[in-house]
Amino acid sequence: MKKQKICVIGDGLSGLTAALVLSNLDIDVDFITKNKQEKKINDPRITAISPTNFKFLNKYLDKKDTKLFWPCKKINLFYEKINQFYNFINFSEDQKNLLYIIKNNDLKKVLLKKIISNEVKKVDTKNSCILFGKKSYAYDLILLCVGRSSKIISEFVGKRFIQKDDKEIALTSMVCHNINISDPRQYFLKEGPLAILPINEKNFSFVWSVSNKLKNRNINDLVYNKLKKILGNKTNININKIITYPISFKFNSIFSKNNSLVLGDGSYNVHPVAGQGFNLIIRDIMKLFQFIEYNQSLGLPIKDSEIIKKFVSSRKPENLLFGLGINLTNSFFKQNKITSPIKDFILSDINKFNFLKEMSIKISDKGIFQSLK
Ligand SMILES: Cc1cc2nc3c(=O)[nH]c(=O)nc-3n(C[C@H](O)[C@H](O)[C@H](O)COP(=O)(O)OP(=O)(O)OC[C@H]3O[C@@H](n4cnc5c(N)ncnc54)[C@H](O)[C@@H]3O)c2cc1C
Repeated sequence: MKKQKICVIGDGLSGLTAALVLSNLDIDVDFITKNKQEKKINDPRITAISPTNFKFLNKYLDKKDTKLFWPCKKINLFYEKINQFYNFINFSEDQKNLLYIIKNNDLKKVLLKKIISNEVKKVDTKNSCILFGKKSYAYDLILLCVGRSSKIISEFVGKRFIQKDDKEIALTSMVCHNINISDPRQYFLKEGPLAILPINEKNFSFVWSVSNKLKNRNINDLVYNKLKKILGNKTNININKIITYPISFKFNSIFSKNNSLVLGDGSYNVHPVAGQGFNLIIRDIMKLFQFIEYNQSLGLPIKDSEIIKKFVSSRKPENLLFGLGINLTNSFFKQNKITSPIKDFILSDINKFNFLKEMSIKISDKGIFQSLK
């Protein structure tokens, strides 16, 4: 059989991971991005990866690169009540690592392999071709990893999507401090959830989801004062430039056409409160890899096969359930005079329910369906 060809478009985490993982199959993988190779990668975010996803990624990384990940054995959740922070749940499991945290810039550098500097203007889904200027290139499978705001995606998806836009933004930056913080923390604050993700004992990144109305306030002061309140007034903190990202829950009902498939933020966006966006994407890539590998083992082609159909039916329900579940959790923690007493009652004893904690750890590590097996 002629060597099959896959085209991966987009150099975000989805495209880089898909290109690296799939290039381990006996397939030609063309990796296409509109960014010039020499252009410095600049993604100031931090990503927390679950142990199962880390194990999967690790198979494709060099040994020295795994040192860039900060392993964490504990996660603590707090909520804000009358200006106090209550630690209502602690996650830990027999000294096992629960998360691996890495700077997106480091992860992208590690994943970056082969770049063709070109911007795809059009995807011809009918003939499985991509177009650069007047030239067209045919592929057996096209993976569109072009993010949430690409024009290609809006043409692909049209108006068929589910969306819940709470008019929120995520504020994120690195913080250098003089105390020791080695494990992640999540604070459910009156303004919105704030995650602290350490990259070593003296530096962490935070992701704070707040109403986009706060954009008009002095964000630097707001973050500085809040972190001082959380970490203690005596703590010295130095905050880098704060970057904002739009957030909303969006789930496209169509993310495949013939031999083209949308992967990553272009297919769905989940709220960053649970740090699951890229973790879901890794699970998608893992599944896609399995289906392609299976077809190859039987000598079956990728093009016009059942791979995309099988992929969509196995991943779509889980990704949708995850997205809705994360939204529900986020709504539960929002400040509300009516529900707050019920919330206080539930949270006061929740740390005693080991089964619930074990289940939460399993689900965020392996996904919903895999943890139920
Ligand atoms: C603040 C914040 C914190 C987060 N933290 C976590 C976390 O801790 N854990 C986790 O699992 N997830 C996390 N996420 C989610 C995760 O970061 C995203 O799901 C992930 O980065 C999406 O990557 P992507 O490649 O799909 O999209 P993008 O990063 O948007 O990449 C798309 C790429 O495609 C390129 N492109 C676009 N159009 C074209 C074209 N026509 N031709 C060629 N290239 C094109 C763009 O230049 C871009 O580089 C977080 C998200 C946010 C906002």
